[in-house]
Amino acid sequence: MSANLHSNCIFCKIVAGQIPSRKVFEDEEVLVFHDIAPWAPVHVLIIPKQHVTTMYDTTAEHGALLGRMLAMAPRLMEQLGVTNGFRALVNTGPDGMQEVQHVHMHVMGGPRPWAKG
Ligand code: AMP
Ligand code: ZN
Repeated sequence: MSANLHSNCIFCKIVAGQIPSRKVFEDEEVLVFHDIAPWAPVHVLIIPKQHVTTMYDTTAEHGALLGRMLAMAPRLMEQLGVTNGFRALVNTGPDGMQEVQHVHMHVMGGPRPWAKG
């Protein structure tokens, strides 16, 4: 079990394989999977495998990781057939309507109308 696994964190459980997910991409530091309640025809979540609760908990040392997460979004969307644009966003804290307390980037695309967003 990873030392960074937070036992009560749903996304850490997905990283650990304790909860199933529809995986899109995985490497040593990030996991990408389909959102269980998609707002758009294609809606994936890019998460760091290491638990980080919110963007407030990131430091300059997370810059490369966060940059990678954003930089992989267009390639992922292309691979998923989304070539006409997408939204990438990170909800942060209570006023940011963050529901899962493990940093994640929503990437949403596909033809409109969307369910939300
Ligand atoms: P946020 O409001 O930014 O914290 O968004 C959390 C997102 O996680 C929501 O869009 C949920 O639909 C999604 N989500 C929650 N549980 C799961 C799960 N087990 N698998 C995939 N997506 C999930
Ligand atoms: Zn976590």
